[in-house]
Amino acid sequence: MTLMAPGKIICVGRNYVAHARELGNDVPAVPMLFLKPPSAIIGPGDPIVLPPESGQVEYEAEIGVVMGERIRRASAEAAERAIRGFICVNDVTARDLQRSDGQWGRAKGFDSFCPAGPAVVEGLRWQDLEVTGRVNGTVRQHGRAREMHFSIPTLVSFISGVMTLEPGDLILTGTPAGVGPLAAGDTVEVEIPGVGILRNPVRAEGQVP
Ligand code: ZN
Repeated sequence: MTLMAPGKIICVGRNYVAHARELGNDVPAVPMLFLKPPSAIIGPGDPIVLPPESGQVEYEAEIGVVMGERIRRASAEAAERAIRGFICVNDVTARDLQRSDGQWGRAKGFDSFCPAGPAVVEGLRWQDLEVTGRVNGTVRQHGRAREMHFSIPTLVSFISGVMTLEPGDLILTGTPAGVGPLAAGDTVEVEIPGVGILRNPVRAEGQVP
């Protein structure tokens, strides 16, 4: 099943201990949420476009959760049942702007900063999921859903206590350690075994492909 245009994209920061530490942070006491605009979504093979405002655009390989039911203040058990499936996502981030702006809306919100795909896969157990990030074929990141500080059902339940989750809404569950910069000409891959491989080229804004 392909990804419907989500009404909203909710992201979770610092959900793997080693990644929080690599950026000099502790894991938060409650899940740290931020949003990406749906206009940032691109599909497999579409280019990640490096904006001229940033000198440090980084990949973040993540496990994406696609909602299948409307929920509000759901228990972890009900939240888990409301998940439709999983998808590979890349929470592309302008790290320099994330630091200098304080707020993350710009750093996380440029067009093309939310590659997602190749498909939403149903019928998997979240406990079995793992994610690998590669740049130009070299493995840079690897994490398991079981290693998350807040589990996927806990995250979905927590988010549903803030905002009603609707079918098609997309949740990015955090990135493991190993984030790093992208350059024009790179190819970045996010793989979740059983879900697929999301592959995107990188180019500078205005560069002819
Ligand atoms: Zn992220």
